Amino acid sequence: MQLKSTTDQASLRESNLSSVLKLIYRQAPLSRAQLATRSGLNKSTISSLVEDLLARAMVHETGTNSTGAGRPATLLEINPRVGAVIAVELGVDFVAVALVDFTGGVMWRNQVQADPAELQDETMVEIRRLVDEANAGCSERGLQVLGLSFSIPGTVDVEQGVLIFAPNLNWHNVALREMFGYTGLKVYIENDANAAAIGEHLFGVAQNAKDFVWVFAGVGLGGGLYLNDHLYRGTGGYAGEIGHTPIRAEPDGQACRCGNRGCWETYANQHAIIARVEAKLESGCESVIRGKLEDQNESLLLVKIKEAAEAGDEVALEALAEVGSAMGSGFAGLVNTFNPEKIVLGGPLSIAGPFLMPTILSGVKQYAMSEIAAQTEISLSAFGGDASLIGAAGVVVDDILANPTQVLKGGETTEGERSNDRLTIEIQHIQ
Ligand SMILES: [Zn+2]
Repeated sequence: MQLKSTTDQASLRESNLSSVLKLIYRQAPLSRAQLATRSGLNKSTISSLVEDLLARAMVHETGTNSTGAGRPATLLEINPRVGAVIAVELGVDFVAVALVDFTGGVMWRNQVQADPAELQDETMVEIRRLVDEANAGCSERGLQVLGLSFSIPGTVDVEQGVLIFAPNLNWHNVALREMFGYTGLKVYIENDANAAAIGEHLFGVAQNAKDFVWVFAGVGLGGGLYLNDHLYRGTGGYAGEIGHTPIRAEPDGQACRCGNRGCWETYANQHAIIARVEAKLESGCESVIRGKLEDQNESLLLVKIKEAAEAGDEVALEALAEVGSAMGSGFAGLVNTFNPEKIVLGGPLSIAGPFLMPTILSGVKQYAMSEIAAQTEISLSAFGGDASLIGAAGVVVDDILANPTQVLKGGETTEGERSNDRLTIEIQHIQ
């Protein structure tokens, strides 16, 4: 019984520590007195919890609050450089790795082209090389690594750390946590749209939003759902496959990579933009893009089309407006179903966001119920094409905010004497 009671006390303290850390994370700068008021905990408990967070270098003191009648109070804020997350995004044709600090700042980033669908082993070698490079960079600077986190374009088992199935990569059952056990780091794995939603909630345009839908637009359309302030995974963990909502479930619907016809994403993905441009060129429309689209991959084509739109090219502008409209009608469904505060658009297509947004908004206005649409703000992600990469770091930060004691106190580290270097590391490329 004694053991249980000690365990209960430790768990209560961890829970209180988490509450105080989250308050500072979301509302800093705050004084100890403000923390007591907002948490409902007494001042001596707050004092002890803050000492704990200071010892773990998760917060630091920053100036004083001189307003008000009493003595100036010391203010606390989050220390972004308590450590770094090694974030990995496994894309359809690239691998990106970044070191991201505790508040979402990118300290270092590297990316290589890859062909994971054809070359799984080679791609794994590249990932290992980039992860080792990032890890070594942290060691050199005495920067604590908070975790290693993978963002995956497919279904994952977050508990076991296994990639279940990534359709565009044709990868099945890859035990990433086990494969990266050699690093000694805690290994996380998350679906790309879910990771992006977590990152946007912590660091981006959906901070403090309790209900929002994060829409990943690229080769397909995926969704991350935040409902009542929590990521919603669904019964089997697969919630958010919004792109495969049938909007034209008829024999003449567009064929989808999922095997069905008429799925929403076939009308609103990057291929749809390119196909519309090509159809207009074939019908004889004049355009600055004519002759520039051959032999390029879809990512490059998308950049070309966006640049043409910026130059006022009618073909590019019309294609983007049409696909924006197809996105907007699907967004209307999300608005009606979830009554969200926000819908956030990110992923590769968001580079053309300013050209898609007007018809997305008019699609929502036309097809959503007006009372509900009036409560929803539609925005572009703060992180554009890097939302899933930064989101992978968010997965780790989210876990640390819930369980802060996994970040060791200065005196407990086994990595030798800590110096203040890690608090003042400059943002630079490690190479
Ligand atoms: Zn489909």
